[in-house]
Amino acid sequence: MPWCGQREDGEPWLPDWVMCRHDPRVIVMKFGGTSVGDARSIRQVVQIVREHGNRRPVVVVSAHAGVTDALLALAKTAESGEVDVGPIADRHRGILRDLGLSTDLLDALLGELADLARGLRLVGAASAKAIDLMASFGERCSARTVAAAMRHEGMAATAVDAFTAGLRTDSMFGRARPLPDDGRIAAFLATVEGVPVVTGFLGADEQGNITTLGRNGSDFSAALIGVAVAAEEIQIWKDVDGVRTADPRLVPGALPIRSMSFAEACELASFGSKVLHPAAMVPAMQRGIALRVRSTLDPRAVGTTIEAAVPASRPPVRAIAHRAGMALVTVTSSRLVSQHSFLARVFGELAAAQCDVGPVAVAAAAVTFAIETTLLADVLARLATLGEVQIEREQAVVGVVGDPQALASRGAADVLATLAAAGICVRCAGQGALASTVSFVVSASDLAKTVGWLHARFFPAGS
Ligand code: ASP
Ligand code: MG
Repeated sequence: MPWCGQREDGEPWLPDWVMCRHDPRVIVMKFGGTSVGDARSIRQVVQIVREHGNRRPVVVVSAHAGVTDALLALAKTAESGEVDVGPIADRHRGILRDLGLSTDLLDALLGELADLARGLRLVGAASAKAIDLMASFGERCSARTVAAAMRHEGMAATAVDAFTAGLRTDSMFGRARPLPDDGRIAAFLATVEGVPVVTGFLGADEQGNITTLGRNGSDFSAALIGVAVAAEEIQIWKDVDGVRTADPRLVPGALPIRSMSFAEACELASFGSKVLHPAAMVPAMQRGIALRVRSTLDPRAVGTTIEAAVPASRPPVRAIAHRAGMALVTVTSSRLVSQHSFLARVFGELAAAQCDVGPVAVAAAAVTFAIETTLLADVLARLATLGEVQIEREQAVVGVVGDPQALASRGAADVLATLAAAGICVRCAGQGALASTVSFVVSASDLAKTVGWLHARFFPAGS
C-alpha cells in the first residue's frame, strides 16, 4: 500500500484522505468509574484511546468512582437541610490539579450543582427528576475532565453530553428507557472536533429533562451509542481481570475467556456475573456488533469478545457463575385449589412486586423458588395470603453455563454427580429452558466448595 506509513509506535498509519475513502467504521470505548477514578487512571485511559486513534474512537465515560454515590447522598441530605458540595467539588478540582489542568475548568458546572443543592434544601424534598439532575453532574464533570486531559496530551477531543447529542429516553427518572434513535446521535457526533468523550448513564426525555438509565448504566449508554453510530465494535474497559471461567475470589486459578456468545453472556449476567450490564447486550445483539470486555490492568490482553454468532470452538461449559445473598421461599397452598391456579396466583403476586425469581421447583400443592434476600420483605406479605410461607436464608444460586447440546446430553448429570461426590446438598436443580444453563441452589456456606469442585471438574487446567 503506497499510502500506508508507520507511526512511531510501529502501528500502520493511514493519511486522512484514505480514512475518508474507505470510511472505516468507528469503535466505542467505554471506561467505568474506577478507570477514570484519579489522575493516574485517566492518563492511562488517554494512552489507551491514543493507541486506538486510527479506529475513530468514540469514548464513553462514567463519573469518577464514588461520585454518583456522593451526589445521591447529597440529594438526600439536601432534603433534610444540609448542603455541602465542598467534598465533591474538591474531589473534581483535585483530579484536575493532579492532571496539570486548570482547576477552574468545572467552575460553572460545580456552581450549578451548588445552586441545585440549595434549591433542594429550600424545597425540602427531592423529586425523582431532581435526583436524576443531581446525579448527572458526575458524568458531565468527568467527560469534561477526560476530554481536557486528552487535549493536554496533544489529542483533539471534545466533551459531549449524551442528552445534547440526542440520546432520548422516556420520563422514568432513575431507570429511564431509551427511545428509538432517529439518526440524531450519529449526525451530532460527526460534527464533533476530535474524539467525542460522551457522558455515560445520561439521556433526556422529550421535554428535555435530564434522565439516568439506572445504576451502572454507562455500559448501556455505550451499547446505545455503538448502535447509533453503527460501530464496528464496542469495547467495555474494566479495571478487573477480564471475564473468567469463575469468580477468581472463589477460584484463584479461574481462566480468562477469549470469546463467548451473547446468549452465554446474558445467562452469566442474569446470574449476577459483573461481565456487563445485561441491558448493554441487547442493542448490540440485535445489530450484530461485537462487544469486547477489556482490562485496563492489562491493556495488551485481547480481552473477552461477545459475539452474536456462536464462537467456533465451544467447550461444553463456558463458565460457572453464582449469585450470593439469596433466600429460598416455599409457598404451600392452604386451600384445595388446582395446581395451575395456585401457581398462577403465586407468580401473579411476584410479578406485581416486580420480583425476578431464580430456579423454581414445583410439587402438587407447593412451590419453591430462590429470590434475592433484599426483595423478601416486599413479597412476603403478598404471598402470605396464598398459603403457608417458609423461608430459608443464607442461600446461593449457581449456574453452569455452556453449550446447550453438550449440557442437554450429559451436563445436569455431570454437575449433580460431581456435587454428590463432594457431599454437597443441592436444591431446585434444573436445566434452563434454553438448555444453556444448569442451575441450582446451595447453602451459602457450601458456595466456595461448590464452585471450586465444579471448576476442577470442567476446567482441570485452571484448578
Ligand atoms: N456513574 C453511574 C453509577 O455509578 C453509572 C455507571 O457507573 O455506569 O451508577
Ligand atoms: Mg459507577
